[in-house]
Amino acid sequence: KKVYLNGKIVSAEDAKISVFDRGFLFGDGIYEVMVQLENGLFYKKAHLDRLQDNLNKIGIQYNIKEIDDNLEVLLKASNLTDQSCLIYMQVTRGVAPRKHSYPKGVPATVMMYALPFSLPHINPKNMKAILEPDFRWHRCDIKSTSLLGNIMTNEAAMNANTNEAALVRDGVISEGSHTNIFFVKDGTVLTHPANEHILNGITRKIVLKLCSDLDIPVNEKPIAENEIEHMDEAFFTGTTTQVASIAQLGSRTFYKNDEIGKVTIKLQKAFAQLREINTAN
Ligand code: PLP
Repeated sequence: KKVYLNGKIVSAEDAKISVFDRGFLFGDGIYEVMVQLENGLFYKKAHLDRLQDNLNKIGIQYNIKEIDDNLEVLLKASNLTDQSCLIYMQVTRGVAPRKHSYPKGVPATVMMYALPFSLPHINPKNMKAILEPDFRWHRCDIKSTSLLGNIMTNEAAMNANTNEAALVRDGVISEGSHTNIFFVKDGTVLTHPANEHILNGITRKIVLKLCSDLDIPVNEKPIAENEIEHMDEAFFTGTTTQVASIAQLGSRTFYKNDEIGKVTIKLQKAFAQLREINTAN
């Protein structure tokens, strides 16, 4: 297995970083996940632009052009050129004596790897989710490698034999532990607005665009926990989740069997069709 680390392709065993890396000490870094499907890197530019935006937000001086230029190098070294795969990448503030303030003139640590990974055209899984308090910080718009709140709530979902945790902040549903969440009510698609309480998912943005293309009305507004019972459909979105129907959310059962809501199906099908074109740029 190969890893791209600071400008070089090395084997996974040789991919070593300092214990003084700020990513290790503070979780001081940004990550990104994208997939390569039949027609190339799915929404590559959107993912790389988000990475650059996030790095700018936290003042890590790094130009994602290096990553862009080396994606093909990594895929070739990993024998994954033109194969379905997942690419993980992260950029941290680099190696410096442990001190909270940002060090000056330290190069970022840049790491990425690719794994074989396939995605069905439509996520066959009707998801079950629990509701968990959203005790994360107030900058969930930053795709930080510090994911304690996300992994703790996801672990709670796994322990409850469900697939995901939907997070509740101040009485409203923000997002999932590693997904965005949407509802459908009387034909209108509803989702939390893209502010500092959610990560603005690339899949979320794609779905909103599909709604506009398909003339499905959208309202970006927070849904209260006590409104869930009145919703007609619900689904999670994410790079590896795609558009996944929710069968059960907390005490609300949407479907007892494999049924899927009609707006959800429409969006799943439209989303699957995007694989037939090259969306990389
Ligand atoms: N929300 C959170 C907290 C996430 O971690 C993710 C993806 O990892 C998403 C939403 C979905 O984002 P995307 O569609 O860009 O994968």
